[in-house]
Amino acid sequence: MTFSEYAYKRPDIEALSEQFEELLRDFDNADAETQVELVRAIKRLRSVFSTQHSLCHIRHTIDTTDDFYEKENAWFDEVTPTFEALVNRFNRALVDTPHRDAIVAAFGPQFVRRTEISLRSFDPATIDLLAKENQLASAYMKIKAQAAIEFRGETYNLSSIQPLLLDPDSETRRAAAEAKWSFLEAAEPEMSRIYDELVALRTEIAQTMGHDDFVSLGYDRMARTDYGAREVAEFRRQVREDIVPLATELYERQRKRLGLDKLTFFDEGLNYPQGNPTPKGTPEDTVAAATELYAELSPETDAFFKLMRERELMDLVARDGKATGGYCTYLYHHCVPFIFSNFNGTSGDVDVLTHELGHAFQMYESRRQPVMEYILPTYEACEIHSMSMEFFAYPWMEGFFGKDADRYREAHLESAVKYLPYITAIDEFQHRMYAEPELTPAARMEVWSELEGIYLPHRGYDGHDFLERGGLWLRQSHVFQMPFYYIDYALAQVCAFQFWERDQQSHKSAWRDYLRLCKAGGSESFLDLVQLANLQSPFATGTVREVVKSLRAAMN
Ligand code: ZN
Repeated sequence: MTFSEYAYKRPDIEALSEQFEELLRDFDNADAETQVELVRAIKRLRSVFSTQHSLCHIRHTIDTTDDFYEKENAWFDEVTPTFEALVNRFNRALVDTPHRDAIVAAFGPQFVRRTEISLRSFDPATIDLLAKENQLASAYMKIKAQAAIEFRGETYNLSSIQPLLLDPDSETRRAAAEAKWSFLEAAEPEMSRIYDELVALRTEIAQTMGHDDFVSLGYDRMARTDYGAREVAEFRRQVREDIVPLATELYERQRKRLGLDKLTFFDEGLNYPQGNPTPKGTPEDTVAAATELYAELSPETDAFFKLMRERELMDLVARDGKATGGYCTYLYHHCVPFIFSNFNGTSGDVDVLTHELGHAFQMYESRRQPVMEYILPTYEACEIHSMSMEFFAYPWMEGFFGKDADRYREAHLESAVKYLPYITAIDEFQHRMYAEPELTPAARMEVWSELEGIYLPHRGYDGHDFLERGGLWLRQSHVFQMPFYYIDYALAQVCAFQFWERDQQSHKSAWRDYLRLCKAGGSESFLDLVQLANLQSPFATGTVREVVKSLRAAMN
């Protein structure tokens, strides 16, 4: 069956709830063996709901003008909390069962840990505050989604303006950047107010649940089972000491390559004076190059990519009416992932294709895992799959970029390094915000400026008032939508760099470990997965320094 043939049917929420209730009643009175069976039965029930929800979401984002799926999508927004409440009751029953040993024996300890942390991060007494939190986050997203940026007689949104920021002509770059940042500056009062309310609200939720501040609850929400704020602070120290100096050198190298007297913020997106490398040919040519890449990379990726194409599980090209952005999701009932992206003719098309295929490949390889939580690991683990896949794809870049392949690889590797200090600054910023929730909006901007001085010391805003005052972080959705979800990218990148290095030394052994990691999905905690893949923990002292050594050697 191809994707278009997958049947959508609105779940009968009453019937599903009744069945769920019945299974919950049975669970309470069951012996160990029956409870294990009931865990599987509840997984099947959840997979029915989740599959239809994902199908609806995909079809809604593929064509946002389709009234049918818009209505269905609104219906899911409405009933999902009801369904989640049932899942929450199941989690409670699972944690309270006297047959815990049998559950652990059948599904592994991580299943129980994930269940416990998910219970710990939700308190029914805060339900009204949570609804308010969702509304505020949505209000922020709406401001960004409705951006109408006027530039040289045309109207752009925050993603369509992006290619102009990479224009080889410096005047175009600067003017486009100014148009973009003027929009964000105009939205500053509203965004600052939303953030102010969010910080206060999240602090109230955390305190209602017995926490001192929001930080530990934020970590619980991210389902981090084996590290906390102390380990992350130690990781940030490593980034400051070892990555920041390298990134600063790379910005200097970029400045020289571009032949500029000084590199301002508006130049940072452009890597080569003649323009960044772009994929040659049509989107079909890009997919053809990917087919060759995955056929040669391994028998597993060959079979996987053929399946993605044959079943039409990718919607890659930008079109009118399509939602923006890119994602990978999973259809439990069909045991397949789906990839959504918006190709726009830049090298980002290849990044997004290899990145999302890394996510999709892991989901597919984990499809036989016994519980849903194991098919979708925690985020820092997920990003290892995607970011490492970008590196495993390096030897095939000629197929996408022709004679520009070396330039693509060089710029890609440099960008990966340069991104790390920014991620880390955002993480430290969030810790500071929730440690001092009473800061004024102006004081928050000052904190951001101070952190830029530490993590991005090369940066010049050339007198742009809003950015000089510390306004940049207001563009970062994660800070509003999912607090503390960001350092995950840096933790995973340090792991992916290790795969990049090992792939050059021995492709066979690197790929074997990567495949083992993908098959394991989320069945272990983050640090156990890192160990399973024979990688050094990003928290361990010296890991970042070792990675920097190999990067320097390659870059020189
Ligand atoms: Zn990703």
